[in-house]
Amino acid sequence: MKNIHRIALLSICWVLCLSFFMTRPAIAQRYDTDKETRQRVFDIMSKMTLTDKIGEMTQLTIDMILVGQPYNVKEPQQIDEQKLRDVLLKHRVGSILNVAGHGYTREEWHQIITVIQNIATKEKPTGIPVLYGIDAVHGANYTLGATWFPQEIGLAATWNPDLAHLTGKITAYETKASYIPWTFAPVLDIGRDPRWSRLWEDFGEDVLLSQRMGAAMTKGFQGDNLASDYQIAACLKHFLGYSMPWTGKDRTSAFIPDRQLYEIHVPPFQAAVDAGAATIMICSGDINGEPVHASKRILTDLLRNKMGFKGLAVSDWNDIVMLYERHKIAKDYKDAIRLAINAGVDMSMVPTDLQFPVLLKELVLEGEVPMSRIDEAVERILTLKVKLGLFENPIPKGDYSKFASPEHADAAFQTALESITLLKNDKNILPLAKNRKVLVTGPTANSLNALNGGWSGTWQGDNPKYNTPGKQTILEAIQNEIGKNNVSYIEGVAVDKPINIAKAAAEARKMGLAIVCIGEMTYTETPGNINDLTLSQPQLDLVNAIAATGTPMVLVLVEGRPRIISAIADKAQGIVLSYLPGNEGGRAIADILFGDSNPSGKLPYTYPRYVHSLLTYDHYWAEVNDYKPQFEFGYGLSYTTFAYSNLKLSSSKLSADGKLDISVTVTNNGNRDGKEVVQLYISDKIASITPPVKRLRGFEKIMLKAGESKTLTFSVSPKDLAFVGQENKWIIEPGEFEVNIGGLKGIFVLQ
Ligand code: BGC
Repeated sequence: MKNIHRIALLSICWVLCLSFFMTRPAIAQRYDTDKETRQRVFDIMSKMTLTDKIGEMTQLTIDMILVGQPYNVKEPQQIDEQKLRDVLLKHRVGSILNVAGHGYTREEWHQIITVIQNIATKEKPTGIPVLYGIDAVHGANYTLGATWFPQEIGLAATWNPDLAHLTGKITAYETKASYIPWTFAPVLDIGRDPRWSRLWEDFGEDVLLSQRMGAAMTKGFQGDNLASDYQIAACLKHFLGYSMPWTGKDRTSAFIPDRQLYEIHVPPFQAAVDAGAATIMICSGDINGEPVHASKRILTDLLRNKMGFKGLAVSDWNDIVMLYERHKIAKDYKDAIRLAINAGVDMSMVPTDLQFPVLLKELVLEGEVPMSRIDEAVERILTLKVKLGLFENPIPKGDYSKFASPEHADAAFQTALESITLLKNDKNILPLAKNRKVLVTGPTANSLNALNGGWSGTWQGDNPKYNTPGKQTILEAIQNEIGKNNVSYIEGVAVDKPINIAKAAAEARKMGLAIVCIGEMTYTETPGNINDLTLSQPQLDLVNAIAATGTPMVLVLVEGRPRIISAIADKAQGIVLSYLPGNEGGRAIADILFGDSNPSGKLPYTYPRYVHSLLTYDHYWAEVNDYKPQFEFGYGLSYTTFAYSNLKLSSSKLSADGKLDISVTVTNNGNRDGKEVVQLYISDKIASITPPVKRLRGFEKIMLKAGESKTLTFSVSPKDLAFVGQENKWIIEPGEFEVNIGGLKGIFVLQ
């Protein structure tokens, strides 16, 4: 038992230490401004009028400069130069974003950006280039023909930060090749509610995994030099608390205790801020009734003063308007602008009106928004433009010969391969022999859109017209793998309606094995809201009909969130989860099914069994009896087996300023080479705040040849044992901790 007085004393000391390292981390790569850049920005600002400055804070959608009306532009799309001149020369707009309805080819992007930058730099009195931003969230997904990677949830399932870095790097390359210097990624909302329609856009439920992947992806986007022709600025989103809507529905209110906010939601953002992230996007929602776009507490006190973020904070889509339209805390648009800008929003993603700059100017002239706030925002925006090298090179000059190259496709393929998670493999039904006949069925079997998910060619990713020619669906990849003659294909069902279930079942019996591709069709944001997490009834019916024939069956799940499959999981011999694996996902799935590759993905979330039991792995002791997931966080099978032995702690005690080494030996004792994710969990036995049953405190993905052993060492220091205590501050308490790696346990005492 711990000595309570001692805890109190030590806690005070630790709070002091922690308030230093938790709020002001001294990381070399932080987004800081050098003297020269500052001077340059001041020089530019000294020549700017109020209109120029407020224009810089305005971001419009590209719809506003195209022929036609916003959301109803004329096809084929064309820039309306008169509108563009009005926007840039009269309103001095500093930033434009995204696409109008669908992606463009690289050549189209070149034309668009060249016209915009020519008018901005040659005709606008300030000559300030435009900062173009885009949702390049899994590759340059708004550039047709570009390399499209697995979505973030799949990337998380690789548990391989090197792949997050590579995804970021190639996305940066291909986005810059489209002349765009800024992506709205990575998403660092933490995915702890599987009902939420954007779960697949994040790195899953764990803090440490999200921190590592998010920081790696940010570095991949930005590299060491934002001005490089091959790097782009990252935008961490959506700060803060967006992923926990109380209803499970996108853009509804969140209720998050401060303790959880600091312990679970802030750290992924903090890690990416420390990795040097240049920009951040604000959460559309409200936390405990406080809309984040109007929260000085979150946007200034926390983000700036505590977390030390120095870059640009942009609003989300139309979200200043939403302060009065949805959140009802402002009386009109102007009042909403006053609240948001004073709270700390630097740039408004307006995106379809030109009232924002007009009203903001009025507010400044009326003294409702101080000039100091405008100058601060503009300084941040111009600092980014300078750092991106936009003044020297509004049009990048790189040699983009690797755009959509086989090398890039291979990176996306490897990432998809490492993400795929084998959840069930009864009697080693997998891998399948290549000389066998199979039925392929199900709504996601022959759809590239299902593999890619949202933000793929279009916002919802549902229009096959913008798919990449030549990329293979699961069906096509299986046909290539074992020959068309061995594959029969019957749709069976659409996600929401039966088509020919009886025919599929009969064919399954005939072929002797069914590969049933089920899950979800594509969606994002509010259109992805659901009322029931259970897999749709027609798909359950299809699986049940095939099961009734007694035919062995492998389920391939293609889904953005874990749909409940408890009614059918026992009926299939194999279950493979592919998340949203992107354009190379079909090939990767076929490779795994037929044993060309060994699966190594591990769940980045808890796969629930029941709709009313959505606990995460780091639940509390009071919830233990209700924790009966379908599959646990961190789980995933391989075609080989790994044995854990020799768990050793360098000491049974950890001192306040010390380190503890925890080592373990992992042996591949099967007969195939394979990758394993070694996961270190630590449980705080007794604490002043109810501790979670365990927390992931370290992980490493390693490759082991058949028969090979490796010994890994994790180094743990007291800060790894910190938590947010009674006063909502990070504290460390001495006491007993239990270590668990691969089922092996050890105990140490923090002194
Ligand atoms: C989404 C953001 C996205 C922005 C621009 C918003 O609706 O919430 O994630 O970056 O639109 O497309």
